[in-house]
Amino acid sequence: MKVITLGTGSPLPDPNRAGPATLVRAGGRDLLFDCGRGVLMRAAAAGTGPIGFDTVLLTHLHSDHVTDFNDIVTMRWAMSPVPNPLRVVGPVGTQGFVDRTIEMLRDDIGYRLAHHADLDWQPTCEVTEVTDGVVLDDGTVKITAAPTDHSPVKPTVGYRVEADGHSVVIAGDTVPCEGLDRLCAGADLYVQTVIRRSLVEAIPAPRLQDILDYHSGIEQAADTATRAGVATLVMTHMVPAPWPGTEDEWIAEAAAGFSGEIILAQDLWEREL
Ligand SMILES: [Zn+2]
Repeated sequence: MKVITLGTGSPLPDPNRAGPATLVRAGGRDLLFDCGRGVLMRAAAAGTGPIGFDTVLLTHLHSDHVTDFNDIVTMRWAMSPVPNPLRVVGPVGTQGFVDRTIEMLRDDIGYRLAHHADLDWQPTCEVTEVTDGVVLDDGTVKITAAPTDHSPVKPTVGYRVEADGHSVVIAGDTVPCEGLDRLCAGADLYVQTVIRRSLVEAIPAPRLQDILDYHSGIEQAADTATRAGVATLVMTHMVPAPWPGTEDEWIAEAAAGFSGEIILAQDLWEREL
């Protein structure tokens, strides 16, 4: 099993960080978790792409986590020689989001259908909405979902992937909660979006202050990692984006509450398990 952080940025545009997206390669499947800004560029760098994705799994429908979903739908459709429905898993509300995305693409779909004689089908998605429990178990790969807490954004889910005797958790945006603890219990790798609370608190912008109560701070991610007994904490989607040279400060802040391995992810960071 391999984990690749395709995008580690926040909603704020960043020349060096794509939007949130993580690829898990397991049992011959390319599983894409969230699809933020620039996901297909980073996927190309990782040797996969819209046709290669086995399933797109969404943690929630905040725009920064799904902004390039439409690009995946369009390019999978346009690049496939035969009809190739996209499997999508997400929280309740995902079906509506997918339907509206395809509706948004209606003009483009019409242009391409009119122009390409060999393209005579619409893009389609097979959506499964999940709340809690097993999403997939094919005997090689098992994916479990559990509810997370990103209130007032509801509902949200996190995922645990198990394969090859290892386990990875993709938490998404969440504060510590029972569902997250359950997903993380004994995991090898725990990928958590984080904010650095002290820096956010120092920026006198009300809209930024609002993010404090619905994201895990570094210390909360460390606490979850310790409580669950994970081996490695991977911090991603950092807010604010770490200034070059301050990476050690982020890691030290996490190390104050967690004695395992700590990674401050870059785009295309990868780990084989
Ligand atoms: Zn969010």
